[in-house]
Amino acid sequence: MIRDDPYWPATLAAENVIKDRGIAALPVDPIAIARDLGIEVMAKPASTQGVSGMLLRVGNTFGIAYATHIDSIGFQNFSVAHELGHYFLPGHIDAVFADGDVHESHAGFASGDRYEMEADHFAATLLMPRSLFTNAMRTAGDALAAIEKLADRCRTSLTATGIRYTRCSRDPVAIVLSTGCQINYCFMSDALKEVKGLNWIRKGEGLSNSTATFTFNQSPERVRQADRAEDTSDLQDWFGGDRSLSVTEQVIGLGSYGKTLTVLTALNIEEKLEEIEEEEELIESWTPRFRR
Ligand SMILES: [Zn+2]
Repeated sequence: MIRDDPYWPATLAAENVIKDRGIAALPVDPIAIARDLGIEVMAKPASTQGVSGMLLRVGNTFGIAYATHIDSIGFQNFSVAHELGHYFLPGHIDAVFADGDVHESHAGFASGDRYEMEADHFAATLLMPRSLFTNAMRTAGDALAAIEKLADRCRTSLTATGIRYTRCSRDPVAIVLSTGCQINYCFMSDALKEVKGLNWIRKGEGLSNSTATFTFNQSPERVRQADRAEDTSDLQDWFGGDRSLSVTEQVIGLGSYGKTLTVLTALNIEEKLEEIEEEEELIESWTPRFRR
């Protein structure tokens, strides 16, 4: 847990809810937590496009409505957990009800709004608390297979699980969400962030056309049918830098969501970098002699 992480307070608040309620096994049920707090939870078709759920206030009582237009238990659990974030996080009730007693949410790490992002990070942690999640990671395997297994275990979406996976993994991994030729966002593990010379991918950046993800996204049908692809790509195609290093690229279409999830795994990257550096040093140490 990095203390300069702006979402650390939201993460900590979610961990505290888990601890206070004595939750010791996966999956975490956000609807049960809400009902236990006297919050009514109901399924409701979203009236506005892109709304994942709503937090409603009537006097001192609260209600949560979650959207059902995306038929996924993971999406619905995340929506409810996001609304619980607004309920639990300091300052959120005042902020989300500033214009009335109905707050419409855009859960899913795509909003630029501070409160929405905080509620998303709260939700991811609530559904995948660190100690339970890292325990489950031990037997889940690697990369995309691990993310799928963990999503099943936690009843969470592949994207939310992928994000949580990068935050808890000790390996150099990243997940990228993309639509067509554009990157929606990218999350890197701490081990990958520590690799020198890499750039952060920004929202809206273009996908390199030499990646398997770019080719995959040329076919919207493959995205809709949740097809898969696997290849190796160059770390430079994703994060720039001055060294060419190969990474494993796993791609899966997210169905009606219309987006693609890519998992990049750069195992042994530190060793490969050391080898390259040693080689460069060796060349440099010999070069002056030849020049003489
Ligand atoms: Zn919200």
